[in-house]
Amino acid sequence: MGYADLRELQSALTTASDIAAALQRAPTRRDADQLVDVLRRALSVAGALGAETGPTGCAEHPHGAVDPLYGDPEDPLPPGYGKCLLCNDRRRRADAHHPHPRLRPRRPHLQLHRRPRQSA
Ligand SMILES: [Zn+2]
Repeated sequence: MGYADLRELQSALTTASDIAAALQRAPTRRDADQLVDVLRRALSVAGALGAETGPTGCAEHPHGAVDPLYGDPEDPLPPGYGKCLLCNDRRRRADAHHPHPRLRPRRPHLQLHRRPRQSA
């Protein structure tokens, strides 16, 4: 997605917004056709967004390295991890600092049985 495409998308959306704002109570068929045309143009340009984000598919690091573990069936990445190695490394560091509660050893529920029973 180059700058020209982005400009075209913004221009089409602005035009659509202008047309919609200028519509009278009873829009004509011509108004509707004009609006549909410009919205189609915006839709087609918007549909191409992300097509050139590079191999990582990451908006922040489009041309960074792809995580070698991505798509590895033997050692799958945790849920929420993407293709971007830089982002995955950041996630790994965050996970190391704040281990997922599921990964901590379970604490036995001693509290329930520790209190001596009161005799009535
Ligand atoms: Zn990234």
